[in-house]
Amino acid sequence: MKIDILTLFPEMFTPLSESILGKASEKNLLDIKLTDIRDYSTNKHRKADDYPFGGGPGMVMLAQPIFDALEALQAGEKKIIYMSPRGKLLDKAKIEELSKKEELVILCGHYEGVDQRVIDYWDMEEISIGDYILTGGELPAMILVDAVARFIPGILASKESATEESVYSGLLEYPQYTQPRSFMGMDVPEVLTGGNHKLISLWKLEKALQLTKERRPDLFAKFCDDPHLTKEEKKILQKIIEQSGHSVY
Ligand code: SAM
Repeated sequence: MKIDILTLFPEMFTPLSESILGKASEKNLLDIKLTDIRDYSTNKHRKADDYPFGGGPGMVMLAQPIFDALEALQAGEKKIIYMSPRGKLLDKAKIEELSKKEELVILCGHYEGVDQRVIDYWDMEEISIGDYILTGGELPAMILVDAVARFIPGILASKESATEESVYSGLLEYPQYTQPRSFMGMDVPEVLTGGNHKLISLWKLEKALQLTKERRPDLFAKFCDDPHLTKEEKKILQKIIEQSGHSVY
């Protein structure tokens, strides 16, 4: 997948060249190109923002440098995203949809945002990462890229890793443990070290259901309503419901 990111602060993007995403770039699975919007400013001082018409606090990013940068990238036919708190909330459905694209262009706003005309002209989709305000679109863009990249074949070790995670699996994940077996008087649950795979998977399911019920009743209710639950899943569900002393059905 090729991703063009337009930003006033390209130096903020070092996390994308580290760890799993860095390796994905080395293997050419992910081709991230950063464009410094200021490089396209026609102003001799590389100015990229100005005061808002109609007054109001802060500065607004100029249309001209963004427009010219998008032209240079021949972005006309591409999916262009503007990271924006006004946008639709980024969720797993949107991430999976975006992961199927071959090319993406992401515009990072800063200050008070960007001139509306550039958003309208290029028919950008506004996407928010949450109901809070950050100082710029750089961190939101990196979050989007990271989440999308996990679905690109070859980036994670196995295909299951992308979906066998909290929320994606429909539940929150069970607790995980590693060496040593005993740490500061706390022992790893015995079942995990016993080697009985059937018992281990039942334990994982039970813990996942307990956590989900406690922290995400919305996901828990959805799981309970699934008409395809196996006998074992129903049995564990019943146990958890009985433990909590009330029914979710
Ligand atoms: N004045 C804007 C408003 O009220 O909608 C907020 C501007 S914000 C301070 C500067 C930039 O950060 C935005 O243009 C956007 O690119 C980015 N940003 C801030 N919060 C964001 C969020 N929750 N999701 C996505 N992008 C965000």
